[in-house]
Amino acid sequence: MKKVVKFGGSSLASAGQFQKAGEIIRADKSRVYVVPSAPGKRDSADTKITDLLYKCYELAVKGEDFHEAFSLIKDRYNGIIHGLGLSLSLEEAFNAIEVKLLNEPEKDYTASRGEYLNGLIMADYLGYEFIDAAEVIFFDDSGNFDQAKTDSVLAPRLEGCPCAVIPGFYGSGSDGRVRTFSRGGSDITGSIVARASRAGVYENWTDVSGLLRADPHVVDNPSVIRNITYKELRELAYMGASVMHEDAIFPVKSAGIPINIRNTNKPDDPGTWIVRNTARRSKYGITGIAGRKDFCSIIIAKDLMHSQPDFYRKVVQCFEENSIPIEHMPSGIDTMTVIVQESRFIEHEQEVLSRIAKFVEPESLEVESGIALIAVVGRSMKSQTGTAAKIFRALADERINVRMIDQGASELNIIVGVLNEDFERAIRSIYRIFVTE
Ligand code: ASP
Repeated sequence: MKKVVKFGGSSLASAGQFQKAGEIIRADKSRVYVVPSAPGKRDSADTKITDLLYKCYELAVKGEDFHEAFSLIKDRYNGIIHGLGLSLSLEEAFNAIEVKLLNEPEKDYTASRGEYLNGLIMADYLGYEFIDAAEVIFFDDSGNFDQAKTDSVLAPRLEGCPCAVIPGFYGSGSDGRVRTFSRGGSDITGSIVARASRAGVYENWTDVSGLLRADPHVVDNPSVIRNITYKELRELAYMGASVMHEDAIFPVKSAGIPINIRNTNKPDDPGTWIVRNTARRSKYGITGIAGRKDFCSIIIAKDLMHSQPDFYRKVVQCFEENSIPIEHMPSGIDTMTVIVQESRFIEHEQEVLSRIAKFVEPESLEVESGIALIAVVGRSMKSQTGTAAKIFRALADERINVRMIDQGASELNIIVGVLNEDFERAIRSIYRIFVTE
């Protein structure tokens, strides 16, 4: 079985961190394809190499001197090379970047050099082949990742290459120029390499021991989720939980390759397994809790609205015309509620409301803002009783008023709407009733 291992910026921020990554890779012969990020922060006061590269680019396009930031970058890499005792020199590569910055600065090219240079070091350190991501990962004319072209080039390339380092974060656009994914995009590269090499596992090494069951800024010391399905992760990620780039799931998802989130600083921790299906149940009955503030609800009431087959479509159209995505639409017999993000709604609210008033002639139209949505997610909900009862008991015990309830058709989650000011208390009470009590 082959494994693809991706190391995040903090896992490669210094020679010491590189050594930890090296030990991890050497401890398991199946760890054959390595995807590095650019060096991240060594401590909270430090600057990421990618941020320094963006700074060089900003200065270079304005024709200003970028050499101070550029020497910091060179010093970081030389420090890592020196600390690892390598005889590698990156001088030629540094010069090429500098010449490009002086003559025709390109944003994506400049940012991608963080991963490129780190990849050269990693390949030299491990004695693995270096594969430039620009030769094997492609974007289409609209700038989206081109899965088909990438698979057709990357898969045969990896077949002929037993061990390789492929830098994260970038590839080539249809014009042949370097293009990057959005920030944090090395996670996507790892997933692409796992898919193309038909890996058994995609290990994503970072600085936490996995995905937490709740936001640590809200709940003290939340536990780590051991097993989660891709679908559950999507639900939690949409509501703000994050452990890796959102789009990193897609390449491995259709290939059914599990992702294992691991901690470079605590390599013995089992981390989180993100899988397609699992028979394992969470001992708490739920997998995780996440939530976001600042939604608004638009409550539309009209007697006999159900007898008008086009009523819903007309309401939805009013939001669509103003490019406002709808989050939820819980409904009653003669009422429907549309929940949207406040930031997307406010700018066009009068257009939307007057359009609804004209289009469907409601008896009443109310708007309420400052709503927070909390998603309680768990694959076992479907086959167990009492999950909803427990959530509402937790909220009632805290005297928190529930403004909205929605359960997805897949029975994978229950969403409750509460006032923004009750948000943290609500999450803590739900966490307590399921996990700590
Ligand atoms: N180095 C890039 C960033 O800082 C990409 C990554 O780390 O995944 O966003």
